[in-house]
Amino acid sequence: MAGIYIHIPFCVSKCRYCDFVSFPCETEAKKRYVDALIHEMAIAAKELPEKQYDTVFIGGGTPSTLELGEIMRIMAALHDNFSIAEDAEITIEANPGTLDVWKLAEYRECGINRLSMGLQSVNPHILKALGRIHTPDDFLKSMDMAKAAGFTNINADLMYGLPEQSTEDLLAAIAVAAGAGVTHISAYSLIVEENTPLYFDINGGSVLLPGEDETFEMYEKSKEMLESLGFHRYEISNYAKEGYESRHNLNYWNNGEYVGLGLNSHSAMHIGGKWLRWANKSEFEEYLADTDEGKRPLADEPQTIERAEEMFECVMLGLRKTAGITNGEFEARFGESLFTTFSKAIAQLDENGLLIKTADGIRLNDRGLDIENLALMPFMED
Ligand code: SF4
Repeated sequence: MAGIYIHIPFCVSKCRYCDFVSFPCETEAKKRYVDALIHEMAIAAKELPEKQYDTVFIGGGTPSTLELGEIMRIMAALHDNFSIAEDAEITIEANPGTLDVWKLAEYRECGINRLSMGLQSVNPHILKALGRIHTPDDFLKSMDMAKAAGFTNINADLMYGLPEQSTEDLLAAIAVAAGAGVTHISAYSLIVEENTPLYFDINGGSVLLPGEDETFEMYEKSKEMLESLGFHRYEISNYAKEGYESRHNLNYWNNGEYVGLGLNSHSAMHIGGKWLRWANKSEFEEYLADTDEGKRPLADEPQTIERAEEMFECVMLGLRKTAGITNGEFEARFGESLFTTFSKAIAQLDENGLLIKTADGIRLNDRGLDIENLALMPFMED
């Protein structure tokens, strides 16, 4: 299983909490970027080992800010340069307020079969405090248009622990998203990134965040509500109706291979017997210049990940899934047993009551998932 991630770094405006590589941009510069991206695909395809890709994720930024026709050009170039499985999951991220019926029809026409919408909240004051450009109504209109265009696999991103947010606000957002017919919900806790406008608002005291207990209550109550609505939790922060789990994200949690294309995208792949990781440049003009010269726009030389680190990553990422990890997969990848490699850590988690042994592996129980970072410490020492 392997995936392709394509980064589109443009947004209508910058949200107050965001530290992603994303920015507002003129139409002409967007066109230059898409030209460069298409160029990068041709260069990367020649240099990377041939393989079939099962998932594609066009993320950002806000890919739906691209002009009509640009996604079609990107998808055509993707198929020209890479082998994409016939039944591949192909997702595009979109923000309410940037979609219209023509763009949605274009996405369907070029084979995109999953939509991921940034809803975050349905409280207009919270959306405003975050610097989001949309209203709750924009989300509902986008959902109607998306369903009319034929999308049946739709995610909504929600956040909790937001400024002035109550548990009721979060549950209301879940109710709106579920009522509008999404099949997947991601619910992430706000991380206040240094040097963002929100960080300064909070430090200056003009914005108040909910306390730790309140935030934990949001996490608990949202989990209960989502499960009662038929969204089963398959990863710490991700819930899906049966059969609508994100295949692209599962590949990350399985520590699978992926190729990132575009500004600041990241890649990981087995090449020549080594597990390699690399990142693209994050400076816009440098990215354009490199692709223009026919070079891959790498920030640095690919880094070799040592075997012990690769093993730890498989456990750390895999235990984010509620299904956990299997010894069969671990043995197939490393030629040794999970239970031998991590015998001490597994015994310690078991003793601490954080772990469940499955038929062929291990998974964290609810308490283990609640404190996943702490729970995994023994694996670092094993
Ligand atoms: S829409 Fe997303 S990527 Fe764009 S600025 Fe807001 S949070 Fe960042």
